[in-house]
Amino acid sequence: MAPTIDTKATAVHHDLPTPDPETPIRPRQPYKLSTLCVAVENPSMKDQYGSSSVPIYQSATFKGVGNEYDYSRSGNPTRSHLEHHIAKISSAARAFAVSSGMAALDVILRLLRPGDEIIAGDDLYGGTNRLLTFIRTHVGVTVHHVDTTNPNAVIPFIHPTKTAMVLLESPTNPLLKIADLALISKEVKERAPNAIVVVDNTMMSPYLQRPLEHGADIVYDSATKYLSGHHDLMAGMITCNRDDLAKQIAFTINSVGNALTPIDCFLLLRGVKTMAVRMDRQQSTSQLVATYLYSLGFKVHYPGLPDHPGREIHQRISDGDGAVLSFETGDKELSEKIVGSTRLWGISVSFGCVNSLISMPCVMSHASIDPATRAARGLPEDLIRLCVGIEDSSDLLDDLEHALIDAGAIALSAQQNKYIRVPPAHAVLNKAVEQLAIGGSNSKGVDQEWFVSAPGKVILFGEHAVVHGVTAIAASVDLRCYGLTTPRNDGKLSARFIDIDNFQAEWDIESLPWDASAPLGQTERHPEDLDLQLIEAIQAGPLGELGSDKSQARNAALAFLYMYIKLMNTHRASVHFAVRATLPVGAGLGSSASFSTCAATALLLLSQRITIPSIPPPISADHPHLSHHGRHALERHNAEEANRWAFTAEKILHGNPSGVDNSVAVFGGALTYNRPGFGKTGGMESIQGFGSLRFLLTNSKVPRDTKKLVAGVGLMKQEQPEVVGSILKAIENISAQAKRSLADSSEFGRDSLLRDLSAMIVENHKHLVSLGVSHPSLEMIKETTAAPPYNLSTKLTGAGGGGCAVTLIPDDFSEAMMKDLLSELVECGFDPYLTSVGGSGMGILSPYPEHSNMSSKVLLPGQVTPPETPDEAADSPYAGASIRSLFETKSSSELTVWARSLGKWLYV
Ligand code: PLP
Repeated sequence: MAPTIDTKATAVHHDLPTPDPETPIRPRQPYKLSTLCVAVENPSMKDQYGSSSVPIYQSATFKGVGNEYDYSRSGNPTRSHLEHHIAKISSAARAFAVSSGMAALDVILRLLRPGDEIIAGDDLYGGTNRLLTFIRTHVGVTVHHVDTTNPNAVIPFIHPTKTAMVLLESPTNPLLKIADLALISKEVKERAPNAIVVVDNTMMSPYLQRPLEHGADIVYDSATKYLSGHHDLMAGMITCNRDDLAKQIAFTINSVGNALTPIDCFLLLRGVKTMAVRMDRQQSTSQLVATYLYSLGFKVHYPGLPDHPGREIHQRISDGDGAVLSFETGDKELSEKIVGSTRLWGISVSFGCVNSLISMPCVMSHASIDPATRAARGLPEDLIRLCVGIEDSSDLLDDLEHALIDAGAIALSAQQNKYIRVPPAHAVLNKAVEQLAIGGSNSKGVDQEWFVSAPGKVILFGEHAVVHGVTAIAASVDLRCYGLTTPRNDGKLSARFIDIDNFQAEWDIESLPWDASAPLGQTERHPEDLDLQLIEAIQAGPLGELGSDKSQARNAALAFLYMYIKLMNTHRASVHFAVRATLPVGAGLGSSASFSTCAATALLLLSQRITIPSIPPPISADHPHLSHHGRHALERHNAEEANRWAFTAEKILHGNPSGVDNSVAVFGGALTYNRPGFGKTGGMESIQGFGSLRFLLTNSKVPRDTKKLVAGVGLMKQEQPEVVGSILKAIENISAQAKRSLADSSEFGRDSLLRDLSAMIVENHKHLVSLGVSHPSLEMIKETTAAPPYNLSTKLTGAGGGGCAVTLIPDDFSEAMMKDLLSELVECGFDPYLTSVGGSGMGILSPYPEHSNMSSKVLLPGQVTPPETPDEAADSPYAGASIRSLFETKSSSELTVWARSLGKWLYV
């Protein structure tokens, strides 16, 4: 689509090179924007030799006194040409060239003062969030992140005097969400006349969208993208029409010295000249690609599609739909295969280049870290982003089609004589069988040992406040429960929970209360409500003999038997189920959820309701970073199924669980959680994209009374609503901030993440102290860890009042220092555990021989030849046991390392 320029808006702001009318009879029309892009002319800066390309004034200083240029930090002729040119094509009076898009935002944010408030989108570029966090924590500016796709969500946050800036992006990356820049600018101006509306226009470029024409005060672009177009330089451009703002911006650039270098100004100027042709081509191919994918039935995000949300608004405020689009395949593994199968589309971050790029936002930002996948809302894990370049559109479509075929996402329909979409589950399954011919690898699920594990959880931010509607952040801790099922050959079912009251029991399978349970079909889900009749029957029957002193173990056995009876009705397999825990049981660290997940996963494997994924195909040399570092993510279906059953077990154990603990135990990583009510629907959302962090978890071993502590905060809120209200607001801010920092961490590096988290931990703990939920033992842990030479940040986690504290451990914290700290804490009577937070979710030890590290003496789970272990004795009830006795006798400190040493674990 050829854009047109709003002549009213441009004419007033700068001297266009459009010649004056020659005759009144046949006046010349103003030049189109594509002409302006290529015509680099500045009437007030004529070149002395008439050079047709702007020269590079590669000079730091200029001779003379009182001349226009003296020092390049303050001004440089090549830069002036560039700035003049960008102003011209942006409907701007002034433009400023700086060293990157982030430098541009930095200059803009320096307009703010402590106490000011910003309203910003909640789906901004990650770097923007990072910088906003910085000014929030270091400058004292309040940042409200709101959903700017809904102008009504912005209005309540506009304060007539405090709101100093509103920061917008449209469309967003990579979901192409649209904000009504014009309407929001108008609403802001009406309510807070002094507030500045700032727009990050990087996704569009001035060729397609000029927000100054719609009421924005300042616009900036990462010129690294479309303005330059070749991914060969970093630059940022700031444009505005207000003299007062221009003066302040120029002052900052001169003061901090982040103006663009002469050579980069030259390169950028050269790039801009071709922007119109590049964008026209990129955009028309994008439309073809989007339409092609849409016609195959994929969910496609592109404003050029008829049903794209906000399309009408976008059409009103822009001149085109841009060259970034994204689509969902319905299956992460399938998406990885598609991305890995393309040849012409390069796998790379960023966009705006003449070369076409493909990426999986979730996988690529996880490339160097454990994949923390989960089925949740937010950025879809299977999302593929396409940044369309200028290659021939038929080549790009052909390459994409080949990739879709190779991945099994589409297949030729003989009936329709065309390629049609294959349902995602079939695509993955078909390919697995085709590639490995091991489709039935666990077809005899009951004849083999299954070794499973699941992590515990900590609340990182937002405890207590979550009860009052604030977002909490929970993350997995790599202190795990392990579960092992071993086949028996004597018609008995046995359970041994070594770390839960050293529980041990054995039942005749046929004596279990099968009749009390309505049978559940192989694919049928457990209903929402528990089967109370079955619970009563188990309590009275198999558990009837157990004393009430072992209540934890009794509950665990109840949950296990309940699921066994529900899931194994047709199999009734004779097995032994042993559980170990490396995390303290009952300390508020989600031990019950990790137990529930292990039991659910083991029983689902035995009943063949879940099967483990195939070994993925070898990764091509072109796309090595999709290898997940050798890990094989468990399919989403498995994880969801395990989560549903773990939640059922949690209901048996807790009555009315929130579902957070089991979700963390299954999916790992971190998630945000909101309670329903408070004007919201509530729910969980995974935090995508962050790697695991080291934490010290210290159990104070002081009993806590969660109910009393929660009630105490409730009472305080009733008595001092304003005080508690402002604390809750501050905690909400911390959670929102933590969510963004964690999600962006792979992009911005650990140092900055650790610094941010450290500050937030200290701040959140202070608020919890003000709410009265800390305890002298927790304060002692906090002070011990904060004292030199440790200088660590600690907060209480969970209910407080004793309980546990979490301490963030920086990567460079020395082993010697850690040893000292651990012994100091132990001396004080505490139990410290060094662990990682945010790592993998549930895991299954792979049954594939090529994944085994075990010697031939110790057989892999799944291999049925009995090994030479005591279990092999003729009268042993265990058939094919290989690791059972080791599992039950290892000390808990050895357990993790030993389990890992057995072979490859397949994690969610
Ligand atoms: N804004 C958006 C929308 C971006 O995508 C980017 C970079 O990807 C930036 C700003 C930051 O620009 P730069 O990388 O040039 O600093």
